[in-house]
Amino acid sequence: EEKDGAKLASLPSGSLPRLREPEWDDNLGYFIKKKLRVWCRRLNGLWESGLIQSTSGDKALILLSDGSVVTVPTGELLPANPDILEGVDDLIQLSYLNEPSVLHNLQHRYSQDIIYSKAGPVLIAVNPFKDVHIYENDFVTAYRQKLLDSPHVYAIADTAYNEMMTDEVNQSIIISGESGAGKTETAKITMQYLASLGGGTGGIESEVLQTSCILEAFGNAKTSRNDNSSRFGKLIEIQFSATGNIVGAKIQTFLLEKSRVVQLAQGERSYHIFYQLCTGVSSTLRDRLRLKRASDYNYLNQSGCMAINGVDDAQKFHILVEALTTLKICKEDQEHAFEMLAAVLWLGNISFLVIDTENHIEVVADEAVSNTASLLGCSTEDLMLTLSTSRIQAGKDKVAKGLTLQQAIDTRDALAKFIYASLFDWLVEEINRSPAMGKHQTGRSISILDIYGFESFQKNSFEQFCINYANERLQQHFNRHLFKLEQEEYELDGIDWTKVDFEDNQDCLDLFEKRPIGLISLLDEESNFPKASDLTFATKLKQHLNASACFKGERDGAFSVHHYAREVLYETGGFLEKNRDPLHSDTIQLLSSCTGRLPRLFASTWLNQSQKDASSSILLGMSAPQKQSVATKFKSQLFRLMQQLENTTPHFIRCIKPNSKQLPGTFEKGLVLEQLRCCGILEVVRISRYGYPTRMTHQEFTRRYGFLLPENNACQDPLSSSVAILQQFDILPEMYQVGYTKLYFRAGQIGALEDVRKQVL
Ligand code: ADP
Ligand code: MG
Repeated sequence: EEKDGAKLASLPSGSLPRLREPEWDDNLGYFIKKKLRVWCRRLNGLWESGLIQSTSGDKALILLSDGSVVTVPTGELLPANPDILEGVDDLIQLSYLNEPSVLHNLQHRYSQDIIYSKAGPVLIAVNPFKDVHIYENDFVTAYRQKLLDSPHVYAIADTAYNEMMTDEVNQSIIISGESGAGKTETAKITMQYLASLGGGTGGIESEVLQTSCILEAFGNAKTSRNDNSSRFGKLIEIQFSATGNIVGAKIQTFLLEKSRVVQLAQGERSYHIFYQLCTGVSSTLRDRLRLKRASDYNYLNQSGCMAINGVDDAQKFHILVEALTTLKICKEDQEHAFEMLAAVLWLGNISFLVIDTENHIEVVADEAVSNTASLLGCSTEDLMLTLSTSRIQAGKDKVAKGLTLQQAIDTRDALAKFIYASLFDWLVEEINRSPAMGKHQTGRSISILDIYGFESFQKNSFEQFCINYANERLQQHFNRHLFKLEQEEYELDGIDWTKVDFEDNQDCLDLFEKRPIGLISLLDEESNFPKASDLTFATKLKQHLNASACFKGERDGAFSVHHYAREVLYETGGFLEKNRDPLHSDTIQLLSSCTGRLPRLFASTWLNQSQKDASSSILLGMSAPQKQSVATKFKSQLFRLMQQLENTTPHFIRCIKPNSKQLPGTFEKGLVLEQLRCCGILEVVRISRYGYPTRMTHQEFTRRYGFLLPENNACQDPLSSSVAILQQFDILPEMYQVGYTKLYFRAGQIGALEDVRKQVL
C-alpha cells in the first residue's frame, strides 16, 4: 500500500479527471489516453460501445467491438461506465447516467434472466415472457427473512408490508407500463406474496387471489399487443388485521373498454368470458341460454380470431365457475349473469331491413330478436319497437319516430354495451359485498394499482386522451413523492440541500382540468350542444387553448398535447359521441319493464346515478341538469383515486415490454428506451443527476479508497478519513457533499476516482 501511495503522490496535482455530464467533451483526450469505453450513436440512432482512437476537429475515429473502425461526430459520443459498474442493481449507482448506459445495464441484466432492477426507489420489471423461476416458496422465505435483497417484486411488497405494520401508515403499490409489459402479472405476484405473509388460520387470502380469475374473464381480451390484455384499470385494497393477517379486500375498477363488446379489430377478440361460456357451458344450461357456438355470433366472428394459442377456453370456464362459487356468488346469480352474456351475443345478431328511400328500417323478426327478448324478460314486440323507433316529446304527448339504419344499429350496440358494462360493475360490487372478501375495515391496508400506462399510437382518440390524462396525474404524484424522498434523505443526513427546481407537469394538468377553459370543460360544453360536431369542438379548442404552451391546434380537426412523456396528436373524430355515451330513455324504460332481475337492476342503477349527476350539476351551477359525461366522470374517479393514494406511502413498479412479439430473450433497445421515457424512469435519472446520485457510507468509501492515504491517516474515524481522501484527491467542492453517514457525489465522480484506483493498483 505504501508503494501505491508513492505512485499516487507522483501524479501531478490537478491531473485528475473531473467529468461532468453532459459537458464531458474536454475529457475526450483522457478517454483516448486511458483507452476507456465510450458510447457512440450510429446512423440508425442506436448506441454502440467502442474506443476512441483519435480525434480531429469535431470528428472522432472509433474502434467498435466487432473490430471495425468508424468516423463519428464527437457530439455523438457519451462516456461509458467503468467495468465494475457492469450490471449494477440500481441504475443510480452508475457514474454516467446517460441513456445508452442505462439501457446497456438493463440489457446486460436481462440477458442473464435478471428481470428486476432499481432506479432509485423505483422497481423496473422487464417482462421475461417465460418462466424465470424466481417466485417459488423458497424465494418468498428468502425475501421474508432478508436473506436476499436483490431487486424483486417481493422486496417491494415486503417493504410495504413492514412499513404498514411498523409505521401504521397505509401503503400503495403503483404499477404502470404499456399493454403487455407485465402489470397484471406483477400485481398478481405482489398479491401472492402478501397472501403468504398475511395468511393465517381462517384467512381469506385464497379468496382474494381468486378475484383475479373473475376480473380477467370479464375484463380481459386478446389484443394485438397482449393475449391477455386487461381492458380496465383496477385498484385492489388488501386489508390487514393488527396482527398482520389479511382480513378483507376491496376492488375498484376504472374505464372499462365498452366498445370491444360490439366492435373488434382484425385478429383481436372480445372479452374472454364470451368464448369461455360458449365452449364450456353444460348442455342443459346451453339450452336454457339458447346458446350457439361462438362463431355463430356477429359480435365475436367479425375479427377472424376465435381461439388463443395454448388457451383452453372451456377449461377456463370451469375454473371461473369455481372461483365464482368460492366467492359465494350463488348459482342463481351466476346463471343470471350468463343470461345477460347470451342476451348481448344475440343482440349482435339482430338485423334490420331498410324499408324506404330515407333509410328507415324495421327489425327482422328472427330467432335473434326472440332469444334476446326472452333472455332479458321482455316481449319481442317491445324490443323491436325500442330498436326501430325513438319516442320524442311533442307537446304533452310522446310520438314515435322511425330510426334510420345507422341509428338503429347504434341503439342496438348501445344497449349491448350498456348491459355488458353494467354486468361488469355489478360483478365487482358482488365480489366486494361477498362475505368471502371479509368485513371491510379501515385499519391497515396495501392498495395495488394496475393501470394502463401512457399510450401514443399512430392514431390517438378519446380513449388515449383519458388514459394519458390519468397518467399525467399519476406522474405528478410520482414526481412529487420522489422529490420529497430525495430532499428528506439529504436533510436527514445534514447536508446542504439548496432546493433544486425540477419541471412539474402542472401546466399540462391545468390544460386538461381548468374550468371553464380546459380540454375537459370545453369537451363537455360541446357535447351538450346538439348542433356541435367533432370539427366545431376542434375549432373551439384552437380558439381558447392556443395560448397554452402544452397545446397546439393541428389540421383536420386534430390537436396535440405536450405530455410529460412526449407530444401526442389526438384526432377529434368520435370525441363527442364517446364522451356523451348516449343511451335512449326508451332503452332504459325497456330494461325497467323486463322480468329479469339484472336488467331491472341495471336500469334503476342508471336512473339513480343520473339523478345524482343531475343534482350535482345543479349544485355546480350548470345551466341545465345533465348526466355526467364520460370524461367528467373519469376525472372525478381519478380525483378520488388520487385522494386515496395521497394518504398512503407509495411504492412504484414500472413494467417494461422488451419486444412487441411477446417473445423471451429479445431486447429491442429502441422500444425499451421509449418506455423508459414514457414511464418516467429517465425522469428519475434526470432528477438524480441534478442532485447527488452516487452515495457511499463513510465506511464503504474509506474501505475502498483509504489505502491511497499516507499511513498516518489510517487510524482516523471513517468520516475524517473520507474528508482526507477527498482533499487528497483534490475533488472540487461542488462535486460532493459530506453527510453524517454518507458521502454524496455528483454524477460521474466515482468513475473518476475508480480510474485512479485502477491506475494505482
Ligand atoms: P399488462 O397487464 O401490462 O398488459 P400482463 O401482465 O398481462 O401485461 O403480461 C403479459 C404477458 O407477459 C403475460 O400473459 C405473461 O405471459 C407474460 N409475463 C408478464 N410478467 C411475467 C413474469 N413476471 N414472468 C413470466 N411471464 C410474464
Ligand atoms: Mg393487464
